[in-house]
Amino acid sequence: MRNEFLPFSRPDVSEDEIGAVAEVLRSGWLTTGPKCAEFERAFADYCGARGATAVASATAGLHCALRALGVGPGDEVVTPSMTWVSVPNLVCLLGAKPVFADVDRDTLMVSRKTVEPLITGRTKAIVPVHFAGAPLDLAPLRELSLQTGIPLIEDAAHAAGTECEGERIGKTGTCVFSFHPIKNLTAGEGGMVCSDDPELLERIGALKFHGLGVDAFDRQTQGRAPQAEVLVPGFKYNLTDVAAALGLGQLSRLDAFIARRAELDALYRKRLADVPELLPLSDPPRAHRHARHLFVVRLDLDRAGANRDEFMEKLKARNVGTGIHFRAVHLQRHYRETFGFRPGSLPNTEWNAERILSLPLFPAMTDDDVADVVEAVKEALQ
Ligand SMILES: *Cc1c(COP(=O)(O)O)cnc(C)c1O
Repeated sequence: MRNEFLPFSRPDVSEDEIGAVAEVLRSGWLTTGPKCAEFERAFADYCGARGATAVASATAGLHCALRALGVGPGDEVVTPSMTWVSVPNLVCLLGAKPVFADVDRDTLMVSRKTVEPLITGRTKAIVPVHFAGAPLDLAPLRELSLQTGIPLIEDAAHAAGTECEGERIGKTGTCVFSFHPIKNLTAGEGGMVCSDDPELLERIGALKFHGLGVDAFDRQTQGRAPQAEVLVPGFKYNLTDVAAALGLGQLSRLDAFIARRAELDALYRKRLADVPELLPLSDPPRAHRHARHLFVVRLDLDRAGANRDEFMEKLKARNVGTGIHFRAVHLQRHYRETFGFRPGSLPNTEWNAERILSLPLFPAMTDDDVADVVEAVKEALQ
């Protein structure tokens, strides 16, 4: 058994990045300014996006996007239940109703097939999730969006660097990325909205800063529109230059991070091949580049002699940390009580929600760490 606890994720911050952050701290300008502008340009270039606007988190970006689309009372938003709570919560906060689409059992992603039957006259947006670093089957979803006129907002929190059929996520459509410390690239906290729709991006950019249409740097340093007035009431969701400096450094290492994650993922798959109790996710059956954000496995409850939570405890006792991505949102208290969701409504989501766990995966992990995890898994299964 390993002596030191292995967390399921740990950010990799370089001395150069610490230096870049210190430089901002010494510069006299801490909030949104030149570093954010540089980060927006660099991230848009990386994705091939027409434009990008930096925000305080992916949740903030999604809030602005849904608000910019006018999601409000009486509306419905189709999204998975197998996701982080951000989008369903935002839909509730906007007074609308989340409508949950089931996911594929082995990729944990929605598809046109599961989304289309849920479309009604009230559907205001479709927000699918690129899961664990793999891309959605985008072409049919985009076609559905075009045919129905219902906007598609991609939750790309796991998908910085992901590619689908030769195209990087973020290049086309409107995509929201996260820079939370567990994500593939971090800014401490932060997010980015990329869009090929300049008008939508402008509305999101205004909403992220009080609805003024300019930011603090524009107002105070550039002398641009210091008299700006509220065009539409907005939020306070801008990113700081302190965070952007870290994000810029991380972005320059994102491809190296993904390459190391891919090695670790392959090593896990090889070493777990003789552990039939754990079933990893499948890769999507189309050309793609996987960002290997999470290594998710499903526990065979009949063979394991333990439920998922007990199994996670056994790994923890062996100094191996794990995560759950995710608990089904529709069965959490607010959703059960407010909308009356019951077990049985989303079979693939619920089947996975009882069985999934994420094993440690981060770029600074060693091959020996993987061996330790696999040994702990085998012991825990005995
Ligand atoms: C992490 C995550 C988010 C939220 O990202 P924040 O930057 O923490 O707001 C949204 N959706 C998914 C699928 C996530 O995993």
